[in-house]
Amino acid sequence: MTTYDFLIAGAGFAGATCAERLAASGKRILIIDRRPHIGGNAFDTYDANGILIHPYGPHIFHTNSKRVFAYLSRFTDWRFYEHRVLAQANGKLYPLPINRLTLNALYGLDLDEAGAAAYFEKVRIPKDEIKTSEDVVLASVGEDLCEKFFRGYTRKQWGLDLSELSAGVAARIPTRTNDDDRYFSDTYQFMPAQGYTKMFERMLDHPNIEIRLATDFFAVRASLSAQQIIFTGPIDAYFDYRYGHLPYRSLRFEHEHLSNVARQQQVGTVNYPNDHAYTRITEFKHLTGQTHAGTSIVREYPESKGDPYYPIPRPDNEALFKRYAALAAAEPGVHFAGRLAEYRYYNMDQVVAAALAMTEKKLGVSPA
Ligand code: FAD
Ligand code: UDP
Repeated sequence: MTTYDFLIAGAGFAGATCAERLAASGKRILIIDRRPHIGGNAFDTYDANGILIHPYGPHIFHTNSKRVFAYLSRFTDWRFYEHRVLAQANGKLYPLPINRLTLNALYGLDLDEAGAAAYFEKVRIPKDEIKTSEDVVLASVGEDLCEKFFRGYTRKQWGLDLSELSAGVAARIPTRTNDDDRYFSDTYQFMPAQGYTKMFERMLDHPNIEIRLATDFFAVRASLSAQQIIFTGPIDAYFDYRYGHLPYRSLRFEHEHLSNVARQQQVGTVNYPNDHAYTRITEFKHLTGQTHAGTSIVREYPESKGDPYYPIPRPDNEALFKRYAALAAAEPGVHFAGRLAEYRYYNMDQVVAAALAMTEKKLGVSPA
């Protein structure tokens, strides 16, 4: 039986970053994933019509971290892309995040920047303490904009009211008084030029790395020999749900190809806060810049059951996670990394940053 230095469960951003760093420092790695592909939720592939799609929902790379950007740039070149989103209210589409243009179009106003700031000041509902996502939204844009753009979307996405979610969820969406209609304002906003999967292939292309797909950690762990383990799946599953299930939100993705439609919607994503069972529609060609006579879109339907996609940030879940984290800290030779194992609403760049930090601080790898 081969003895590996590390067995890594999960070949998404967390697992692949750890594998790459450890292999480069001379460790022998076996990385497995229960899915038949690498890349985790960021996996992309060509659909039957030849369009590059993201089977697990749209993934747009953005970061303020020069270090993460430089690290990933070793494995891909990039296509400049700034994501834009429109949200439907009363049958019309408006820029989101809410900005000056949103206010003027929605209310038939002609505000300049100072006027937009004064408008928010007039409608906002000040809060002594910002604890929940409702506090965040009401304190910045007030009741009407909350109802038009946030409450319904959040109810659909999480099955919860804004007031039941930690502040960090709605705080992901800024409010602007200018005309900036980009969804993200990070310094680096790019898509991997040949796609995420190609980037992952390069990360894992190392003689010290062996990959086994369609392989479940729990089914094979007893038959494998490794000095240490890095687990990037759901932390409650690792401990066999000892303290009960840690809630994760799931999604169902409805993919559709439209032949002979070169462009279906004006921007990459259109959100539907108060209409339809789905939250948003994304058209992949905007993200990838691909040229094709047809187009492919995905609708996202939030679900309570199914594959775990989102940790659900609220205080009682955080308390349950802490109990699992205490078990994790006492588990000899096993390290937990990534969005599901750390139960953090991480973006891709945050997963990479956390994995780099873990390999350096905990596993003694010299800085990337
Ligand atoms: P994952 O990508 O989930 O990888 C974990 C892997 O572990 C999976 O492949 C899984 O199959 C495997 N695994 C689990 N259990 C086992 C087991 N028992 N045995 C073997 N393998 C196992 N981030 C952004 O920065 N920008 C975006 O635009 C963006 N959009 C998103 C859209 C959606 C719909 C979702 C759900 C997420 C989005 N994210 C986005 C977040 C991004 O997907 C995550 O931050 C990132 O992919 C997490 O990487 P990870 O390695 O922690 O987890
Ligand atoms: N949100 C909302 N309306 C929108 C977009 C976002 O209420 O039109 C809220 C909602 O609670 C959502 C959160 O802001 O879950 C974060 O949105 P983001 O687009 O960052 O979610 P993700 O892409 O991670 O699903």
